[in-house]
Amino acid sequence: MNRGYHRPQEDRSTCTFYTKIGACRHGEKCSRKHIKPTTSRTVILSNLYENPRLNKNEDEFNPKQLQEYFDQFFKDVFIRFSGIGKVVAMVVCENENNHLNGNVYVRFSNTQEADVATEVLNQDWFNGRPVHCDLSPVENFVEANCRAYDDNSCTRGDHCNFMHVRRPTKAFEDGLFRSQQKSFLLRKLEEARKQLAPKAEPEKAPVTAEASVEEPPKEEAQPESATTMIQQLFA
Ligand SMILES: [Zn+2]
Ligand SMILES: [Zn+2]
Repeated sequence: MNRGYHRPQEDRSTCTFYTKIGACRHGEKCSRKHIKPTTSRTVILSNLYENPRLNKNEDEFNPKQLQEYFDQFFKDVFIRFSGIGKVVAMVVCENENNHLNGNVYVRFSNTQEADVATEVLNQDWFNGRPVHCDLSPVENFVEANCRAYDDNSCTRGDHCNFMHVRRPTKAFEDGLFRSQQKSFLLRKLEEARKQLAPKAEPEKAPVTAEASVEEPPKEEAQPESATTMIQQLFA
């Protein structure tokens, strides 16, 4: 019954910019479908990083200060995110167009952590502005990256639809991920200690002959795993 005028099917096909880069310049008005994921390990925080270069007072920052400013921002938000879940990767855009400007993408170690992040972070404020956090379909940050920008040769300026990634100082970033790893191991260790604690309690009571006879043999797997964790910490 295809009588009359009808639009060709590709009109409503999927928007590859939304799928691969997590944002498209047409936003809600895009003629192609933006299929929001129902589960994802990646979340997007739109326009979170305020690039001083785009502000009027850009002259106040020399390149070194700009990097220090960015490193501090990266640290502040990284610590917030790693308090929610294990951050596997984090990317910050410094594009000059509205749909990518200051976007922060965070990949967590699992989808549950990303779900919690969208719940919790949407109640946050950052630098006096409400935070907006959503699940993102972006799977591959390398594919989304504008390589020309990395080489200082992107000529598309604010028309570029790929990520212009601002990177923290390498050693600084490595230090943050190492600290996160240590804090996760410490948390696991603490959990293991708590599991061991109730076993220690009955020993405080006076030991009678019957009690020691009734004491069933218990699995002793926990102390071993705790030791392994300590070894990992100081490896
Ligand atoms: Zn689109
Ligand atoms: Zn570019």
